[in-house]
Amino acid sequence: MSTMNTIGRPTTPNAVTSKPATLTGGRGLLQNEHLIFESDGWGKTGVDLPEPKTDGSDLGDLVRKDPIGLPGLSEPETMRHYVRLSQKNHAIDLAIYPLGSCTMKHNPRLNEKMARLPGFSDIHPLQPISTVQGALELMDTLSHWLTTLTGMPAVALSPKAGAHGELCGLMAIRAAHEASGEHEKRRKVLVPTSAHGTNPATAAFVGYTVVEVAQTDDGRVDVADLAAKLGDDVAAIMVTNPNTCGLFERDILEISRLTHEAGAYFYCDGANFNAIVGRVRPGDLGVDAMHINLHKTFSTPHGGGGPGAGPVVLSEALAPFAPAPWVVHDANGYRLIEREEDEAAQAFGRLCAFQGQMGMYTRALSYMMSHGADGLRQVAEDAVLNANYIKARLSDVMSAAFPDGPCMHEALFDDEWLKGTDITTLDFAKAMIDEGFHPMTMYFPLVVHGAMLIEPTETESKQELDRFIEAMRALAGAAKAGDVDRFKGAPFHAPMKRLDETRAARAPVLRWTAPQVSNIAAE
Ligand SMILES: *Cc1c(COP(=O)(O)O)cnc(C)c1O
Repeated sequence: MSTMNTIGRPTTPNAVTSKPATLTGGRGLLQNEHLIFESDGWGKTGVDLPEPKTDGSDLGDLVRKDPIGLPGLSEPETMRHYVRLSQKNHAIDLAIYPLGSCTMKHNPRLNEKMARLPGFSDIHPLQPISTVQGALELMDTLSHWLTTLTGMPAVALSPKAGAHGELCGLMAIRAAHEASGEHEKRRKVLVPTSAHGTNPATAAFVGYTVVEVAQTDDGRVDVADLAAKLGDDVAAIMVTNPNTCGLFERDILEISRLTHEAGAYFYCDGANFNAIVGRVRPGDLGVDAMHINLHKTFSTPHGGGGPGAGPVVLSEALAPFAPAPWVVHDANGYRLIEREEDEAAQAFGRLCAFQGQMGMYTRALSYMMSHGADGLRQVAEDAVLNANYIKARLSDVMSAAFPDGPCMHEALFDDEWLKGTDITTLDFAKAMIDEGFHPMTMYFPLVVHGAMLIEPTETESKQELDRFIEAMRALAGAAKAGDVDRFKGAPFHAPMKRLDETRAARAPVLRWTAPQVSNIAAE
């Protein structure tokens, strides 16, 4: 029997549990797909090459004696292999990706088109400077946008991710303390309890002792605790604004005043810049260093290992310590300051071999220029509006972690509303997969019990948000009605069920090894 659910689509209750598993592992027009190495391609090739003219004797001992170890597929087989694999995955092109603290937004195709222009994609970092003037101009223009949007005088473009940007910022801070002779006594970095894990990890990596700063009941930095912990042994504070609870740090000016008074620097984690771009300039808040995840705020693709880009804007005090390279221009055109002897005497060094992620620079600048200054301001406004819409429409069925007042770009719920249902945040997230929705961020920030952090971003329309909200409400209703099996057994419809994520993270199998090497060699 078919009924209509709240989203208006026909559903068949308990359809899955009552149907037999398929015989081949396929599911509704999608065949099961093995690894390419597990397919039958060992004796094949997809290209037609002439027989070699020599027997290879001129290669002496270097002639390969074993099979090359790569399977071959025809073109249609190759296409199907990768398209089938792609259908097992979720993608931003398929639906909302509501991960909080991640800013997963639509990547306009215009960005891709620009990044593929041969003048950007086919150049080599060792080409003569005179032949890459356009690329350097693009980097210079991007720098100008970033420093203008943040109200900061300098930017280091080369860091390749947010975490890499944090490393860049803290190394600049350490270099500044070394230059003033205070490094030996300033050994601590203060980090609020709600911080993203990369913040304390970065501080520890740079050699600092991490000291936690408490949080208030309304999800902000506890300024009294911060003030008590600041002193001449503190090198820096690392604060995210808007913070990982999706809230603006109301006392941010006081936080920066206290920090500077103590002789420390203010590192701001700018991963959440999307919420304030075009509205607030971090430079006006007293920030000394902040990374900007181009792959979050400025739409370039991320997830699945990058490449990302995490440029760091720097205050006047830290600018001299920025890592090489950077772009300068004069009447002779654009060039890169690469080495200490070229005007970079105080640079703490460099973070990568060349100039960073050119493709990401091109995509990000395309996003900026296609929006314009007014459009970027609207990005922040719409992102915040969308998050508040979700918060408002779900707060009667789920429990908002900080119910009072509006949120910024992400809506945070706890698991209070699941009490007594025997359903956990994880179970709920898995059931979302069955309904066609990628789960929100779970169990982060750590300061909120069973946290569910939802960030819609500005690129979702009201229609898409309503679709998401109706699914969430339907699931919340099922949870409260005691439909526990739907959650405990979920996901029923995904190709993989519940994975041992700890084992996957701790003991990843990254290399395929042939199960029967002798058979393959014989073919
Ligand atoms: C994403 C994020 C980071 C890290 O950025 P990566 O580019 O993933 O290294 C740091 N802090 C916060 C708050 C983030 O959301």
